[in-house]
This record gives sequence, C-alpha cells and structure tokens, in this order.
Amino acid sequence: MTVLAALVAFAGAAGSGAAPARAADDWNPPAALVQPLGEVWNHVQSTYPDLYGFRNYGWDQVIANKGSVNYCVRWESDAPVSAALRDRVHAALKKQFAKWAAAMVVDGKGHNAWPYTTVPVTVVGWAVKDRSTLQWSDNSVDVYAGNLDSGGSPQCAPDCGRFFHQNGDYAKCPGGAARHYDQSLWLTKGFQGGAGGDWGQRVGQEYFTGALDQEDIHIYLHEVGHTFGLDDFYDWTPTGQCCFLMNAGSATRITEFDTWMLRDFWRHLKSRYGY
Ligand SMILES: [Zn+2]
Repeated sequence: MTVLAALVAFAGAAGSGAAPARAADDWNPPAALVQPLGEVWNHVQSTYPDLYGFRNYGWDQVIANKGSVNYCVRWESDAPVSAALRDRVHAALKKQFAKWAAAMVVDGKGHNAWPYTTVPVTVVGWAVKDRSTLQWSDNSVDVYAGNLDSGGSPQCAPDCGRFFHQNGDYAKCPGGAARHYDQSLWLTKGFQGGAGGDWGQRVGQEYFTGALDQEDIHIYLHEVGHTFGLDDFYDWTPTGQCCFLMNAGSATRITEFDTWMLRDFWRHLKSRYGY
C-alpha cells in the first residue's frame, strides 16, 4: 500500500555502514520462520547499504525518549474536526501504535532485552491550514495554523520536529523538548494508499476517520512498519510466507511473521543502544 516507496529508502542518511558488534541474543523464532527471516534480513542489507548508519528509525526515536513517542497530526483537509472527533483520532492512534509496541513484548517482558513493555503515544500538536477547521477552543493540544511545508501541506513547527532536529535539540521549539514531535500522522483528503518513513505515516483523511472503530487500521499499521525500518515486498516473498502486513494487500493485521521481522530488526540494531 505504499505508493511512495522511495520514502522508505532512508536514502539521505550518512553513516559508517558497518554492522556494529552484537551482544548475546535471546533469539528463538519458530523453526519454520528461521529461513524466511534470514532471507528478509539479507535482502534488507543488500537493498539498504546505509542500514546501520541511519539514525532516525522509530527505534532511535523511542530510545531517545526513554520509551515513548510524540506525534503531530497534520490535518490536510477542510473537513471540520470537533473535539470529540479529535479525541477519537487520538484514541485510535494510541491503540494502533500500541499493536506494534506489543509485538516486542513476550510474557510481560520486552523481547530480547527490548526495554519497554509499553510505548505511550502523546499527541502534542495539530497542524491545519485554517484554524476554523478545528472546532475546539480548549488548549489541550498545541495548534499550528497556517504553517505550511514547501508543498503547501500544514505542518507542526519544524523547530519542534525530530525529523529536522535529529540531535534532539529543541531549543527553538516554543514548548521545548516536552512538546517536540517524533512523527506525524499525516491525513490528506483524497489520498489513496499510504506512505511511511522516519517522519511518520501518511494516509487518506477519509480512510483514517472512516476506520476509527476498526480493530486494525491496516494501512496505517503497514506504514508504521516502515517507520521501524521494515521493507516492502513488491517483487518477492520469503520462503513459505504469503500473507503478512508488510506484503501489502495480503493481510490486514500484524501477523506472526511481521512480529518476528520487527524483532529481527531490533536484534540487529540493539547493540548500538547498549543492549
Ligand atoms: Zn509499504
């Protein structure tokens, strides 16, 4: 479902490119998944030579925040948003993001030294072209009205964005580091499919608000997979695996194979965080 596949290529990052040394692993995938997981990792390594140099995966963000993530909602639509709809969007975002966080937890403990049993989401801002589109007057969340990116889409202040300040310096963010955002939930009217990367996830505004009560908002979930480094499968499938969330169109929830691909990414990255 990613129509902008290049956005997951993480092409702009500089880094050493060398795989860091690894500590001992608690690594025990089901036997049937060992081969396909190995194929996936080999494919990722050959496709993304800067895999180990990139420093803004969802992993980096959660670790930098010591176990949480902050969001900006970019409302690229003229559809009015009541306080009630705002709160439903927040609730759905928290519920859906938590599904990936839960994939890193086994029997109440973080898998393979992953340090967090939950990764709470805080929405720190909404971005909109015209303030009047947002029909609330309380100050429970910062509102950025009329701050547009180069393409004309509303954005929260870049001074507060991790994408623009990967060193974690939010000195120019009006609310300081506490109001910074790591990712954006970018909801665009009329947008088909999805896109995802270190900057967040973009899906159709009508799609997301129409799916608020669904158990799995699967296009969003797929794009979050990209935020944590998982790849697409447009031109191949791993041995024995047909149907999983990151193979767009083949599943509508996080499957066991998706879960183990996420854990494998952590396995290969964790030493850089001291785990
Ligand atoms: Zn994709």
